[in-house]
Amino acid sequence: MPRAKTGSFSFERFVRKDLRDMEPYAPIAFPGSLPGDGKAANGELIKLDGNENVYGCSARVQRALADYRGYHIYPDAEQRELREALAGYTGLSAAQILAGSGSDELIELLLRLTLDPGDCIINCPPTFGMYEVNAKFCGGEAVAVPRESSYELNVPGILKAIGPTTKAIIIANPNNPTGTLTPRKEIEALLETGLAVLVDEAYYEFCGETVADLLPTRGNLIVLRTFSKWAGLAGLRIGYGLMSPELVQRLMAVKPPYNINAAANLAALESLKDVEYLQGTVKALVKEREHLAQRLLELEYLQPIPSAANFILCRVLGRDAKQLWRELRTKGIYIRHFKELPEFIRISVGKPEQSELLIQALRR
Ligand SMILES: *Cc1c(COP(=O)(O)O)cnc(C)c1O
Repeated sequence: MPRAKTGSFSFERFVRKDLRDMEPYAPIAFPGSLPGDGKAANGELIKLDGNENVYGCSARVQRALADYRGYHIYPDAEQRELREALAGYTGLSAAQILAGSGSDELIELLLRLTLDPGDCIINCPPTFGMYEVNAKFCGGEAVAVPRESSYELNVPGILKAIGPTTKAIIIANPNNPTGTLTPRKEIEALLETGLAVLVDEAYYEFCGETVADLLPTRGNLIVLRTFSKWAGLAGLRIGYGLMSPELVQRLMAVKPPYNINAAANLAALESLKDVEYLQGTVKALVKEREHLAQRLLELEYLQPIPSAANFILCRVLGRDAKQLWRELRTKGIYIRHFKELPEFIRISVGKPEQSELLIQALRR
């Protein structure tokens, strides 16, 4: 983008000192945003880089958004209708639920609420990049306790890393980008520390594993979920947290009042009225995940890691993974490559015909 003229003025001196040389979160490079980005032979984009639901959202959402006549009215700051509907879906009470503009917003709000300057979270890379970025943005630090060779948690390492300024432990389960699950026993062991334990279940619907049932007895547990992945609402930004009623009230007091916009609110409500349809797409994606993993395994230069989510991380052997990522983009096939994991690619699971085109391209 061309640089706008600002004269000799530099904003730099107004930026918080601790943020001046912060590593930015590297989001998905939007299709068409890099030189050489192309379309597939059928003229379409094969977008397998964002763990989005390729089947899209429920048709009920499309209809309801078109018919809605209340866009000129601020939404309910207390999210009553949505929290009630989520209570029905999760089996918890509305008092234990708070919705956010994507679960990303809830991660930030939770860290802003809890971290004093210099406080720490424990982070277990390779994992979702927003935990570290948000910890820094909220004035804290992320202490990394890397995962073991098969991406399992290093629980003794986590326990050892806890210090007087440690406030929270954050675990994505299943983990992104590895797709691996953490056994419930290990999460229970982390809860025993008495620290806030944030379990990010963004891919819950793809595996059915949850620790939400521990909430009534574990006041330090926070479970995050989202409509972005299973319900096909990534573009509308809607997620939710399950936590103690006390913490819900705390967050309610500091969140932007209208953090859930009317369209996202309505889309989530309609999705919850069409769970059976959405579960059908989840089932198709899980089936395709297993099929795709098998096909990837047949390629001698790829080592797919068994996944409980809607994506597959693959180690790339004897080839440059970034180059592969680049080349696929020119053919209209978008997958993910991470700077932190230079020898890997992450592929979101799509439709069978998209897997077919991907495999054909990977064979060449
Ligand atoms: C995609 C993802 C999120 C973000 O979800 P949004 O609700 O879209 O903000 C959070 N956590 C993990 C682990 C994810 O993979």
